[in-house]
Amino acid sequence: MPRLPLVAITATSEILRHALRVRLNYAYVDAVAGAGALPFIIPPLARADDVAALLDAADALVLTGGEDVDPARYGADSHAEIGGTNASRDATELALVAAARERRLPTLAICRGIQVLNVALGGTLVQDIPSEHPGALVHVSTVRDARIHDVDVEPKSRLAQSLGATHVCANSSHHQALGRIADGLRVTARSGDGIVEGAEWSGEDWWALGVQWHPEELVHTAESWDRALFSALVSEARARQWAVAQR
Ligand code: MN
Repeated sequence: MPRLPLVAITATSEILRHALRVRLNYAYVDAVAGAGALPFIIPPLARADDVAALLDAADALVLTGGEDVDPARYGADSHAEIGGTNASRDATELALVAAARERRLPTLAICRGIQVLNVALGGTLVQDIPSEHPGALVHVSTVRDARIHDVDVEPKSRLAQSLGATHVCANSSHHQALGRIADGLRVTARSGDGIVEGAEWSGEDWWALGVQWHPEELVHTAESWDRALFSALVSEARARQWAVAQR
């Protein structure tokens, strides 16, 4: 029996009960394990130079939600509404995207993750949706598993194939969004107000896709879309594991 595929999941650091700790919402672990993979956690590292080596052990990568990316990372000044940033996490995750790209490692980028993916590949972000797009829908809800807005997904895109749908209703907990899209990425989902809700690598050579919502919080709902997304990632991870074993 081949081992279960190993999925690397990024995490944040946060002061909790007077100590700086590595933290990850358990929903990511639950979603990845529930899809049939073995998750392991990559913490933010102050020195991110060697982080790529961690991906030698991984069959797939999940970039998770969290803080705003430092706007200096995409050459912008900070907007007044910028939230907290985490320099070690930015360094670690930007290095991980570069390493995943180089290795063609299957990558699922969630919320902050899709933003990191875009910035790492040369794109920019909308720093605050309400102030930069005043007519936009409400994209912030504190009920993590409430599906609050519709998302139209481009038919035949990797995202549509993975979700098994071209129209979904998603949860939403973000005040930022993708701005200028990086070369090589393409937008494959939007909400009705035009905000980017999904993007993916445009070539056949790398399974990398991102969503702006939180599918990990929705794997236990009646709708199958978000479970299907994690299943698609793990299926890619298995395919990669098999391909690497044949080398
Ligand atoms: Mn949204």
